Amino acid sequence: MKILIVEDEDSLREVIGRSLEQERYVVETAADYTSALEKISTYDYDCILLDIMLPDGSGLQLLERLKAMHKSESVIILSARDSLEDKVAGLELGADDYLPKPFHLAELHARIRSVIRRKNGGKNTLDVGNLTIYPDQFRVSVAGKELELSRKEYDILSYFAGRPGHLVSKTTLAEAVWGDHIDQADNFDFVYAQMKNLRRKLKEADASVEIRSVYGFGYKLIVAEEE
Ligand code: CA
Repeated sequence: MKILIVEDEDSLREVIGRSLEQERYVVETAADYTSALEKISTYDYDCILLDIMLPDGSGLQLLERLKAMHKSESVIILSARDSLEDKVAGLELGADDYLPKPFHLAELHARIRSVIRRKNGGKNTLDVGNLTIYPDQFRVSVAGKELELSRKEYDILSYFAGRPGHLVSKTTLAEAVWGDHIDQADNFDFVYAQMKNLRRKLKEADASVEIRSVYGFGYKLIVAEEE
């Protein structure tokens, strides 16, 4: 899960960022409107934490731009003022939630889990074929049996499990699991290495899903037909 924090207050941005990294999210940050707009135009996120008052623009404008791009990111507005006007404007523009500052990090974490769960149809698990993923616990089971995965293997699998049948490019996958900077990488050997191990583990566990290579492009998660 990759989260973008748009917040101009350095200390707050850093505190939120560190706390989310501890919760195992991939964290990206933007300190102003311009860099946030560049990020959302270039990359995809699972959730965006959006401050309203930015030095060079408004978070609400940013939300408008995001919706105009037809992007599906969940958005939680972080506002310094507990203003009903901001809240209504944000929700009308399609924000998923609104959290007035100051807030407790634990509450922010709970709100993030909640918007992500809502996106996932309100369920606490993600089920594909005979796989069950427990996002709150970073666990996976195959036909009820625990599957031991490394952190990156888990991140890759849960990314694909949320998009069965979708063609995912190597770059998109690498950005989602390793972070936005990865598009500067010279090669994707690190993706191949993780993918190889993950596929072997899925196969050994008799998983009914398989991550297939699509030559020259990337990967796709295929669910085996029930016999
Ligand atoms: Ca601000």
